[in-house]
Amino acid sequence: MNNSQVTVPFVNLNLCHQPIEGELAQAMQQVLQRGDFVLGQAVRDFEADFAAACGVKYGVGVGCGTDAIAIALQACGIQAGDEVILPANTFIATLMGVVKAKAVPVLVDCDPETALIDLEAANQAVTGRTRAIIPVHLYGQMVSPQQLLDFATTYNLLIVEDAAQAHLARREGYTAGSVGMAAAFSFYPSKNLGGFGDGGAIVTNDAAIAQKAKTLRNYGAPQKYLHTEVGTNSRLDSLQAAVLNTKLRHLPAWNETRNTAAKQYDTFLQPLQDFGIIPLHNQSHTGHAYHLYVIRVTPDSPCDRDTLQQTLADSGIQTGIHYPIPCHLQPAYRYLGYQEGDFPHAEMLSAQVLSLPMYPGLQKEQIQQVVRAIEAAILPKISPSHSYSQVWQTTPSTLRRS
Ligand SMILES: *Cc1c(COP(=O)(O)O)cnc(C)c1O
Repeated sequence: MNNSQVTVPFVNLNLCHQPIEGELAQAMQQVLQRGDFVLGQAVRDFEADFAAACGVKYGVGVGCGTDAIAIALQACGIQAGDEVILPANTFIATLMGVVKAKAVPVLVDCDPETALIDLEAANQAVTGRTRAIIPVHLYGQMVSPQQLLDFATTYNLLIVEDAAQAHLARREGYTAGSVGMAAAFSFYPSKNLGGFGDGGAIVTNDAAIAQKAKTLRNYGAPQKYLHTEVGTNSRLDSLQAAVLNTKLRHLPAWNETRNTAAKQYDTFLQPLQDFGIIPLHNQSHTGHAYHLYVIRVTPDSPCDRDTLQQTLADSGIQTGIHYPIPCHLQPAYRYLGYQEGDFPHAEMLSAQVLSLPMYPGLQKEQIQQVVRAIEAAILPKISPSHSYSQVWQTTPSTLRRS
């Protein structure tokens, strides 16, 4: 066996783009005709439509999700030296955004079953200098808005959501991006809503914050050649905005198909829970945007995570690890002074998580193929006390067919 032939890719963007190629071409053609490539009409249209989809008033397009986090914090008034709480278990960009805003990042551990920020741990991390918390709606699942709002109210903190993986995710009646003072989104191509390159946005209900974000992204200039902030150059291209607004119309349906796929994984993987294969918990039902479908390969599994990943690759199934090294152990951030053992749940997850193929257009047969390959990797390694027949007896008919 070799992995020269991929039968189930990790993502397949073509399945989204191909059916709407005409719409996309038309949207891009319009920008070409107008010639307003920077902060043009397409950007203003997308900012309005995306904000409305999130259930908030204002949107501000920026160059990427990392800048969206930094600019959102600055627009909310976070200043050099202010402490900002964020989870250790996130993509590095969350931490980078805080550092870019010159704030002091304070990392906290996560819940072992959802991988989301642990608000009990956040409680312990609050000091007199804490100004904000960044909940990361990781893998597409929102951090509980009610618990977040209770927490932020108790300590009088700003909430700036990192919704880079959670476009149109819902929970407790809230849509991602509508819980905090502001929220940051990324439109990196593989996100649930992705452009044809880098892009990002800030959304907020506060007119002054939106205005300040617009100033910060554009050389700190509220009007041409007047610079009231140091600012930066980080704008969403008109071409990207045109692509994103076209794709936005299809996003609810795409998120729905991700949910269908996740349900199928849940069902087919159920019998493997006895063998240490545990999907992360979904506490938000169909509100989960399933940017990623993540399982834990726990010590109860007869096959360790890395071996399982290699075995799947050998049978043409691509998987990912999000993320293999938690933020506090990354070499560039050693100066923050954290060490191994500081965040046991984040460290445990970095050793156990495996992201299975997930994208709109992923077929049920492919999901079955993935689950059968996981079974095949695990079954030969099961101790003699578990006979194959026992396993098959506890396995639903959908899995028994092979
Ligand atoms: C992708 C991502 C970002 C950063 O987005 P970029 O557009 O790549 O800068 C931030 N936070 C999380 C959780 C992400 O997944």
